[in-house]
This record gives sequence, structure tokens and C-alpha cells, in this order.
Amino acid sequence: MANEEFALIAQLQKSLGHAGKGVLLGMGDDAAWLDTEGRSLVSSMDTLVAGRHFFVDVHPADLAWKALAVNLSDLAAMGAIPRWCLLSLALPPLAEGYGQWLQDFVAGWRELAEMADVALVGGDTVATDGPLTLSITALGVVEQGVMRRDAASVGDLIWVTGTLGDAAAALDRALVARGLPGWDLDCSEACAQALENRRLRPLPRLDFARAARAAGVACALDCSDGFLADLGHILRASGLRARVDLESLPLSSALSACIDGDLQRLQRWPLTGGDDYELIFCAPPTLTPILMELAETRALPITAVGQILPAEPQAPEDVDLYWQGLPLPLPESRGHQHVF
Ligand code: ADP
Ligand code: MG
Repeated sequence: MANEEFALIAQLQKSLGHAGKGVLLGMGDDAAWLDTEGRSLVSSMDTLVAGRHFFVDVHPADLAWKALAVNLSDLAAMGAIPRWCLLSLALPPLAEGYGQWLQDFVAGWRELAEMADVALVGGDTVATDGPLTLSITALGVVEQGVMRRDAASVGDLIWVTGTLGDAAAALDRALVARGLPGWDLDCSEACAQALENRRLRPLPRLDFARAARAAGVACALDCSDGFLADLGHILRASGLRARVDLESLPLSSALSACIDGDLQRLQRWPLTGGDDYELIFCAPPTLTPILMELAETRALPITAVGQILPAEPQAPEDVDLYWQGLPLPLPESRGHQHVF
């Protein structure tokens, strides 16, 4: 693919490799040269593999959006301002070549990159006999410190942005539509479309996260593996426990209609389903008024779903889950985990 490699890179450079904030030297040299203006750097990397993280028939524009979104969501969770990205593409042979594919990919990438004000400054392009694999490194800056997983405190309220479970429900529907094992959704076409849009086009909560950090929130992560699994990361890192009320998990109207009060569906989608890319953050109750205001001015709902409890070494689980006021055992699987 010697010729094609350079043609692809040239196409990428022409459509995405223009200057961005702090880019002293962007795509085209051996490495990018970036100016952090004296601020500290936050970096994150995520890899997406065809057949594992996305369906091989995904539209390239949706793939680009999602690959970038999941990386920006990691920066959001730290409270960072995204600035730059590096993109590694491992491409299997494609009969018709990658010209049109790349054009579509660039269109999806650009939509989100412009919204988030993030510049593509480099990457790598290789041929592979394996599945299409995309790896993105996202770089951002912070003004003050970052939000961390190990910074929850006893008495903090546990908040989530937006709504949970839409993407997981949409994934089930997509699996069933492909004849693969999954749970069927009986909902209207309009509901299904709303859920599918959340699965394909997650919105990193960059702006709210920065504002929350500036308001004094110290503990956050983004919810990608499933609410219960991700909350578990905070609890383990902070050495604490939590109480969570299942009925307080925020649901979109589309998902509410699909769940229709069914406990098993509540456990499968909003509680343990993945791919939401909402923020889970912990904050002392004194911050509630300011957080509510920050959310309101951004038209982004936030919901308190539980509270951080002291460590209790004898407790069998790190989360006390309640449903309608009664204790509920934790489901066997708390969310997504890669198996090697
Ligand atoms: P080198 O051989 O020096 O590593 P390459 O030929 O791999 O350089 O890449 C040439 C330039 O194009 C570099 O600046 C690199 O960062 C950029 N580049 C290559 N692939 C991509 C990609 N998928 N996305 C963004 N930039 C890329
Ligand atoms: Mg190279």
C-alpha cells in the first residue's frame, strides 16, 4: 500500500491537517510541535477494533465521530480543555479502496472536532491483515488541577449528567437485528431511532465538566463500561462505599418507554449497560446549588443518584443498591470488561 498510504495521508492532511490552537507544527513532519502555554498537559488514548467495538458495516462518519467522542470524553472526565489529537489507522484491504471511506470519515470527524475545537496534528497509517483498528490519542490542557477517580469523600452526592442506558439498549436492538444474541426492544421506531443516535453519536460533556471542575468538583470519571462498573472504579480508588437508588437513575423518555418499569431492563441498560459517555462525579452537598445552575445554563440535566458512604471492610459489596426503598442484590455482571 506504499502509494496508497501517502495518498491517504495527503487526503487527511488536506481536509483535517489545518492549524489549530497552539499548533506550532502540525501534520506532515516527523512529529507535531505543540505549545501548551505553560499549562499542564492531559493525555489519553483509546483503541477501537472492528467487530469488537463497532460493527464492520458502521458508516465511516459515525465511526469517526464515536472514536473521537470517546477520547474527548476521557479528557472531559479530567476537566481538561481538549486541544489536539493523533490518529492511528490500521486498514485491511478494501476492494474499492479507501477514497470514499476517508471522505465520509473526515466529514464525521470534522463535525465533532469543530464543535470541540480540537486539531488533528499527526498519526500513523498502516495496512493490516487484521480487523480495521483505530487508535486515537487526545491531548488537552488544564488550568487548575484535574478531576480524579480517587478523590471521592464520605457524604459526597453521586451525580450523573444526561441520561443512562440509551446506547446499551440500542446495541441490543442492533445485535438482534443482525441475528446475534441480545434483548429485543419493543418500542416505536421513533424511540429506537433516538436510542440509536445516542449509541452512534455520544456527546462528550466537555463544557459542563470544565465548569464543574472550576466550581470545585474533585472526583469524576466518564461512564463507558456501565454505571455500576464505573462507579466501582471511583469506590475502589477512593477506598469507599456507596448507596445508590435504582429508580433515581436518569432515563431518556425513549428509554423510559422501552423499560416500562421492568426491573430486569433497568438493571441491564441504565445500571450496567455501557457506552453512555456521561460523567459520573462526586461532590459535597454544599456544591448542589452551583452545580444545578451550571447544568441549567447548559441545558444539560444532572441527577443525584446516591451518596458516598464510609469504608466498611466487612461489607460483602461496595454498593448498597436500593429499589423502591428495599435492598436489591447487585447483578452478576456490573458492566463491560475485555477478556484476553
Ligand atoms: P514517518 O514515516 O516519519 O512516521 P508518516 O509517513 O507515517 O511519517 O506520516 C507522515 C505525516 O503524516 C506525519 O506527520 C504523521 O503524523 C502524519 N500522519 C500519518 N498518518 C496519519 C493519520 N492517520 N492521521 C493524522 N496524521 C497522520
Ligand atoms: Mg509513520
